[in-house]
Amino acid sequence: MAAAPQDNNLPARDNAPRAKGAPALAPNFLRSIIAEDARTGKYGGHVVTRFPPEPNGYLHYGHAKSIILNFGLAAENGGRCHLRFDDTNPLKEETEYVASIEEAVRWLGYDWGPHLYHASDYYDRLYAFAEWFIGQGLAYVDSQTAEEMRATRGTLTEAGIASPWRDRSVAENLDLLRRMRAGEFEDGALVLRLKIDMASPNINMRDPAIYRIRHASHHRTGDRWCIYPLYDYTHCISDALERITHSICTLEFQDHRPLYDWVIEKLADGGQLPRPLPNQHEFARLNLTYVVLSKRKLIQLVNGGFVDGWDDPRMPTLVGARRRGFTPEGFRQMVERTGVSKSDTWIDMSVLEDAMRDNLNAVAERRIAVLDPVRLVVDNFPEGAAETCFAPNHPQHPELGRRELRFTRELWIDRDDFMEVPPKGFFRLAPGTEVRLRYAYIVKCTGVERDAAGRVATIHCTYDPTTRSGTPGAEARKVKGNIHWLSADEAVSVEVRLYDRLFRVPYPGARNPWGERGGEAAAAPAGHAVVVAGDDELDAEAAERDFLDDLNADSKRVITALVEPALARAEPEARYQFERAGYFVADRFDHAPGRAVFNRTVTLKDSWSGRAL
Ligand code: ATP
Ligand code: MG
Repeated sequence: MAAAPQDNNLPARDNAPRAKGAPALAPNFLRSIIAEDARTGKYGGHVVTRFPPEPNGYLHYGHAKSIILNFGLAAENGGRCHLRFDDTNPLKEETEYVASIEEAVRWLGYDWGPHLYHASDYYDRLYAFAEWFIGQGLAYVDSQTAEEMRATRGTLTEAGIASPWRDRSVAENLDLLRRMRAGEFEDGALVLRLKIDMASPNINMRDPAIYRIRHASHHRTGDRWCIYPLYDYTHCISDALERITHSICTLEFQDHRPLYDWVIEKLADGGQLPRPLPNQHEFARLNLTYVVLSKRKLIQLVNGGFVDGWDDPRMPTLVGARRRGFTPEGFRQMVERTGVSKSDTWIDMSVLEDAMRDNLNAVAERRIAVLDPVRLVVDNFPEGAAETCFAPNHPQHPELGRRELRFTRELWIDRDDFMEVPPKGFFRLAPGTEVRLRYAYIVKCTGVERDAAGRVATIHCTYDPTTRSGTPGAEARKVKGNIHWLSADEAVSVEVRLYDRLFRVPYPGARNPWGERGGEAAAAPAGHAVVVAGDDELDAEAAERDFLDDLNADSKRVITALVEPALARAEPEARYQFERAGYFVADRFDHAPGRAVFNRTVTLKDSWSGRAL
């Protein structure tokens, strides 16, 4: 019942080469491997990668790294990248996630073209290969219970003990597997195991299970199957069937690589799979400070109501990043700056935020918003009069044009641009001092009015008509302060959501949440614990403090701010720099004509470094 090798020619070079004039790419070990394979002709010059998410959750910042590496390396080399849903666990996967994963990959700027696959597409072939392994004497049906198998697996220092069922005949194994498939047995009654080596120093090689019984409907195959192949068996075969060349994954799969190779080498030796076979290469996953990336913890944040859903702009999900105003290009820059390595490290959140700032600085148009308004009255400017001032949309891109701002007697400025008793070095407005109102005039503060509570309600000033920005001689008089403002005649009020980091410590939930972490994370027991790779049990930090205790109570503040009229007409997801305040995005869902809502993406400068450390 052996299947013939898939008639699947090596791919055409179907992705456009990188744009001319793009900066040279920094070397890294994955680029070196691909270059070396190109030099030796191992894959005939082809590069085919894949991004293989399990459709059991929303993608997070860490997945962005994997997506950018897989699609990016393929594109750099004129190759292609497949999107493959690793849907081998019928109990966990949901269709809802499939759509969100596809959307996130597209949002990051990648296109898998016709190369959308599912591990479940290969169930027939995987099953045929399982019968082939039995026929070769390389697989057997084990009747031990899960506990018995665990107890006989051995340890890192002791060999495992062979199952009493290891030497069943080919005929008996085939009969049992077929009856497993036909639904004769309960969940867990039998498993199919490869017959490799119970004494192997690598626990993954001690007769790993490759099929288990699960009487469960699958979101794509329905009730057609009641036995499901396990990850290690499925992944390598899926790669080989799709003629993947470089199978790039995270470090926890390193100890699984011998099994990956064993399975496909045997099949290729037996004429079941074509060569050249794919090779697995592992890189260190992205660990970021000030967030949690484990699916289990993300679910807790959502279900516990600590955030406003999966796409809350504070969530480290890609739907959250999009709503926050983060950019795909910012993620690419972060990946390029942090490179790829073979050992676990932690990247500071400021690296990601800086990448976003740099990208937004280059692409976001400037606008004015007054987040905490206080009235400024220009006493010597005629009542009812108005002048038109011009503000460039982008200081480095005159081609993006400019917009008009009305200068009138009554203005709004930001409360923290004024101090009644200024400390030394405060160059903004204070009684008796001068500042420039950007794009307009120099004004001098002459006094304040207070409300009943004693708080400054109105600031009075006079302007100097000879100092208008852009007019001859205007710059003759120098002032140190330069503040933004809006005309009370035309400012529009909008909702602004000031988002900040979700956690107030770099290592939420760690015993030492402020401290160094690298070594501990690297020592996670991944690969030694025999779990289905990718399951959440890989979270080694489970035994530490409650990460929810480290939430930042000030991570979301909703205010009413004043903005230039043009902003009220912004399209959802339009990104801006609010001058002197930060980068903001019109909310993807809540922003609408007549009800403007902006989310703060990131402040202009990092306010976290050195905080409380
Ligand atoms: P789980 O939380 O269940 O372990 P996962 O985060 O590994 O799942 P998958 O859907 O299996 O999620 O991941 C798809 C791909 O993304 C895998 O190749 C995985 O190695 C990669 N990936 C996951 N997390 C990160 C990360 N933090 N950095 C880089 N790549 C990652
Ligand atoms: Mg996984």
